[in-house]
Amino acid sequence: PLDKDELGKSTWGFLHTMASYFPEKPTKQQSQDMSKFFNIFAQFYPCEPCALDFQEDIKKNPPKTSSRDELAKWLCNRHNTVNIKLDKPIFDCSKVHERWRDGWLD
Ligand code: FAD
Repeated sequence: PLDKDELGKSTWGFLHTMASYFPEKPTKQQSQDMSKFFNIFAQFYPCEPCALDFQEDIKKNPPKTSSRDELAKWLCNRHNTVNIKLDKPIFDCSKVHERWRDGWLD
């Protein structure tokens, strides 16, 4: 099985990429569906302590799905909440599209 760090790194890659390709002007349906996606994701993410904390976090900070920029920034802030918990560096959210859509590899 994937370990927690490998799973996390791959999952963040998927989530941030998805946010960076979310429509700039989503329909109401797309916004609602993306909010549902994150709520369902939080329920089934296969690392129990991670999922429980993420559920709490998105209860306090519900998904912002009115545009690509809003979603990408919201998700960046959620990732930073986890970074703080794990003593990892805070990511500069103004660089989120640069990191996940326009290029730069690590
Ligand atoms: P990661 O944190 O996986 O980041 C990968 C890359 O994303 C970085 O190299 C950087 O380029 C970029 N990045 C970093 N921060 C941001 C940001 N804020 N916005 C955009 N891009 C960014 N692990 C635990 O031990 N305990 C937990 O409770 C826990 N909860 C998690 C909850 C969720 C929803 C997810 C997806 C993962 C969780 N993890 C948890 C895993 C943890 O977040 C890391 O993925 C893991 O520790 C590997 O870290 P990493 O150093 O490889 O970088």
